[in-house]
Amino acid sequence: MEQAQPGAAPTIAIIGGGQAGGEAATLLRQNRFEGRIVLIGEEEYLPYMRPPLSKAFLAREIGKDALTYKAPVAYEKARVEMRLGVRVAEIDRRAKTLLIKSCGPLRYDKLVIATGGRARELVVPGAVLRNIFYLRTIADVEALQPLMEAPRRLVIVGGGYIGLEAAAVAVKRGLAVTVLEGAPRVLARVTAPDLSKFYERIHRKAGVDIRTGVTVIGFTAGGENGGVGAVACAGGHSFAADFVLIGIGLVPNTGLAEQAGLNVDDGIVVDTASRTGDPDIYAIGDCAMHAHHGFLRRKIRLESVPNALEQARGAAAAITGRPIPEAAAPWFWSDQYDLKLQMVGFSDGCEELAIRGSMETSSFIAFYLRERRVIAADSVNRPGEFMAAKRIVGERMKIAPARLADESAPLKSLLQPAAA
Ligand code: FAD
Repeated sequence: MEQAQPGAAPTIAIIGGGQAGGEAATLLRQNRFEGRIVLIGEEEYLPYMRPPLSKAFLAREIGKDALTYKAPVAYEKARVEMRLGVRVAEIDRRAKTLLIKSCGPLRYDKLVIATGGRARELVVPGAVLRNIFYLRTIADVEALQPLMEAPRRLVIVGGGYIGLEAAAVAVKRGLAVTVLEGAPRVLARVTAPDLSKFYERIHRKAGVDIRTGVTVIGFTAGGENGGVGAVACAGGHSFAADFVLIGIGLVPNTGLAEQAGLNVDDGIVVDTASRTGDPDIYAIGDCAMHAHHGFLRRKIRLESVPNALEQARGAAAAITGRPIPEAAAPWFWSDQYDLKLQMVGFSDGCEELAIRGSMETSSFIAFYLRERRVIAADSVNRPGEFMAAKRIVGERMKIAPARLADESAPLKSLLQPAAA
């Protein structure tokens, strides 16, 4: 076993080689931590960007290399020891040691858990049939890609971002695509009804058969090589399929933390500095239930790249004794067809809506207001104005809906004090 020698440089271990883990590793060195930094990742790849998996990479517009988050030289320069393709099996908090499958144990002084999440499985009869896929990793896309050719029929279970992005790619490739969504509208978990309606219209126009309020109850065989042939739904409906993609959300990878006796509640519970109940253990990214101390002022687990990077920054600052930057309003993006959606804040409880631009021309920002303050914005094909929208939401500015909608004044001008 590796023992900490008296006077030896301290070791920070990071479990998980996603964007959160990769960012934390290099930032720790940037913050002048002089000890050992060891990153252990189960996937064989250097930290990579998952967003293109359901967009340009699925569409074969970019190759695997373009997914790499930071070039190898960044980790070399930061003297990060990479242990890839290996899984941490256990955290022994008493001995401050990680047990790593097919590697020796590793002693740590500080530990960052950045284990992300895995695709939520749909547990129904027939779910183990061939040609039923999920989409979380490069390996998942590589399994899916060979089937993504016309005239196959693809049924997508779940009308969230991943399902809709994959639908856009598939229909453009000439496949017959059906999306089955359990809620009464697509994107129900993440946006307001107007935007859901907008995206349903866009997809239907492109040829995607969108069905909402549909509960999948099983899969039946009868397809290629004995694979799935149809998707059975409550009420007796059935949809023929050559292959199926399931996109029904994420389950945070909290098993290691739970076994180690850390507090877990739909995510590893951490404070504003991303610290768990153990002062030497931090958790960041998709796996962390974080006390959001900026915009939201409540506990939340976010699944987005901006959040993963922000928490990596916070944890690296806390570990190296620097001030922790305040958390910004959560934001996210999604690309479908030629539509660039950027969203900031949460529209729940919105009382008023102001549309700047036009949904008809697919160039607009929808502002959501509660108690006369702007609490969220969804921007479609307005990247130039999104920065201003982020500030408006981030500061929960009080701006009359008519002014938000008035395109004769640049959005930036509403940031002036007179607008408040
Ligand atoms: P992950 O990326 O999940 O990385 C965690 C890593 O830890 C994994 O590699 C995992 O194998 C490893 N690991 C887990 N357990 C162990 C263990 N015991 N030992 C060793 N390693 C372990 N976000 C956006 O903001 N915009 C988008 O447009 C967008 N699109 C997306 C599209 C897709 C298809 C997907 C899947 C996600 C998308 N996201 C998007 C979400 C975003 O990618 C995630 O929020 C982000 O990747 C989270 O990073 P992470 O480092 O916390 O977790």
